[in-house]
Amino acid sequence: MVTGGAGFMGCSVVRALLANNAKTVVNVDKLSYAGSLERLQETSQNKRYHFYQIDIADPVIHEILCKHKITHIIHMAAESHVDRSITDCQPFINNNISATAKLLDATRRYFNKLDSSQKEAFKVLHISTDEVFGPSESDAPFMPVSRYAPSSPYAASKASANLLMLAWRKTYALPTINIQCSNNYGPYQHPEKLIPQTIYNAITDRDIPIYGNGKQTRNWLYVEDFSTGLLKLLEKGRVGQSYNMAGSRETENIELVHMICSVLDELKPGTDGRSYREQIKFVTDRAGHDRRYDIDDSATLLETGWSASTSLDEALPQTVDWYLRHLDWCNQILQDPAGDGDVQTRPRE
Ligand code: NAD
Repeated sequence: MVTGGAGFMGCSVVRALLANNAKTVVNVDKLSYAGSLERLQETSQNKRYHFYQIDIADPVIHEILCKHKITHIIHMAAESHVDRSITDCQPFINNNISATAKLLDATRRYFNKLDSSQKEAFKVLHISTDEVFGPSESDAPFMPVSRYAPSSPYAASKASANLLMLAWRKTYALPTINIQCSNNYGPYQHPEKLIPQTIYNAITDRDIPIYGNGKQTRNWLYVEDFSTGLLKLLEKGRVGQSYNMAGSRETENIELVHMICSVLDELKPGTDGRSYREQIKFVTDRAGHDRRYDIDDSATLLETGWSASTSLDEALPQTVDWYLRHLDWCNQILQDPAGDGDVQTRPRE
């Protein structure tokens, strides 16, 4: 079972599971503003794939677990946009904390009825974020068990979900694993997030907003790399453990936006010959904005053989090209089906 499988990273995971011959993949997603079944169009006819438009807090989850004899849960359903959590934290408390607790309880009831060999195989993987650790203030990277010190309501809600996973492990022996990963990028990411928003704003002739001085760094992980690593952790990850997954190169936001503009200047040159860089506009920094996250994922490499293999130089141009070819999808998820530019564009990340 994948929760949040109609989201950006979830759809990549669903596809990877099916491609790796998973017997059955059950996607549970309530289709919030961020969910889109378009992301899984080619998958919908696959007989091994089942979709339920359900909130993970719904007690019917227990019936779905029983019906499909679920052996593994990859829990990705969440509110995921930091800026939205600063404007209104309640959906983050409800979906990322309370709903996660309800999902865990339904899972616990199901797990208790399994026989010992089924219990042995069962795993719940929670996809969390490097943001749970707060900003890196020293040269020592965060280990998977480093202290949580979240800055934003989003990060606090994910740290809370991590703690629920650990508590259900200790109290109920539910086989849980937390995975903290760095920022993902790739096709089908909601255009409110930094990379797609930069591309979308550039080609629709809007300002490209950069928070503060743009010197914040992120370690970008290509979404297909993430899914490959996740499948390895699904198989080899040890229950009760936490793992980190990082990208291969740390990049300042301003450098990243410059890279995107350079790719766009080449792939879709402006008619007036001006660079897209001229649309960059520095805006007031996000409240509580973490400058940098540095996580150590050497244990993931040691135990599964995985490390990020796709470079930003390689995958960023492909990603830009994908968005250029999928402007209709961006308009649709931004609820601008007419494509007339009448959409809400928020600052990002
Ligand atoms: P997303 O916002 O694109 O997708 C989230 C999906 O969850 C949506 O399809 C939404 O409909 C669904 N959802 C939300 N609440 C739900 C609920 N109560 N019941 C059922 N479905 C619900 O998110 P994403 O970027 O794909 O992130 C996936 C997970 O990975 C999240 O848990 C996020 O916190 C975590 N994460 C994301 C990143 C990143 O860079 N995107 C990095 C680290 C961790």
